[in-house]
Amino acid sequence: MLTPPSPRVVITSYGARWNDPPRHPAATLLLDVSDRLWDPAAFAETGDLVPLTGLDAAVRDHVLGSPEAARIVEETGHDVLALLAARVPELPVHLHVHCWYGRHRAVAVSEAVGDWLAARDVPADVRHRHLARPFIHRDPSVSETCGFCLIVAGRAPATLVRAWDDAVAVEPPQPATAGHVLVIPRRHVANATDDPVITAATMGRAAELAAEAQHGLSLSTSQDAPATHTTTPRHLHIALIPHGTARAGTTRVHDGTSNMAGVTGVEPAASGFGDRRSGL
Ligand SMILES: [Zn+2]
Repeated sequence: MLTPPSPRVVITSYGARWNDPPRHPAATLLLDVSDRLWDPAAFAETGDLVPLTGLDAAVRDHVLGSPEAARIVEETGHDVLALLAARVPELPVHLHVHCWYGRHRAVAVSEAVGDWLAARDVPADVRHRHLARPFIHRDPSVSETCGFCLIVAGRAPATLVRAWDDAVAVEPPQPATAGHVLVIPRRHVANATDDPVITAATMGRAAELAAEAQHGLSLSTSQDAPATHTTTPRHLHIALIPHGTARAGTTRVHDGTSNMAGVTGVEPAASGFGDRRSGL
C-alpha cells in the first residue's frame, strides 16, 4: 500500500498579537494581512461575524471580498510555486500568514491560497495556529457603549494630550491632580490582562509621554475596576499621576495637532470630557 506523499507546501496562519509565531529552521514566505483586507471586527455591520472564524463561509466571503484579496491570493500562490520549483524535492515550502489575532483574515487567506494551489494539483497542508486562543476581538456593540471607544472614534469630547496610531492620551474627567493623564488604546480591551501585547504597547506610549514630564509620576493600570468606579469605563487605560504638587499642564507637552490622524471632533476645551453621563 502506497503512503500518501507528505505535503510539499505547509501554510500556517497565526496572530501577530500573540507573540507566538511559527518558526522553521529554513527560510519561509511571510504574508502580512494585518492592515490589509476587510476585518469583520472593524465594522458594526459585520459584528455578527466577529465570533466566527475564517473557516466559516460568511467570514471567508467577507474577507475575500476585499478589493485586494484576489490579487494577494494569486500573487502569493505564484510565489509558493516559484519557491517550490527552486527547492530540493524533500523540503516543503512554508508559507506563514498573519493578521492581528489569527482568527479571521489570516485564516481565510490561508485557506484561499491552499485552494488556489490545490486547483493546480499542488496539495497544501493548511494549519491555523491561534484559532483556539481567547476571544478578545473588538466588539462593535461594546464600542457603541464604551466612553473611551467613543472618544477614540471622535464621537465624544475629550481634552486630547497626545495621539498615536495605536493609542491616545487624554485628561480624565476628574483629575486627581494637575497633570493627571490617561493613555488609552484605540482598540477596546477591558482589562490589563486581556491582551498583554496591547497592554505593553499602551504602557510604551505612556512611558514616552512620562519621559517628557518635568516631574516624577506614577504609571498605573488595573484589572477589573470596582463597579463603584462608575465614571471610568472598563477600557484599558494607563494613568499618569504626578507625584506631590505638580505644576498644571506639565505633562501636556504639546497639543498634538500634528498627529491627530484618526481622531476627529476632539475638543481641546477646558471643561475636559464634557457631559460625563453621556460621554462616559
Ligand atoms: Zn472601549
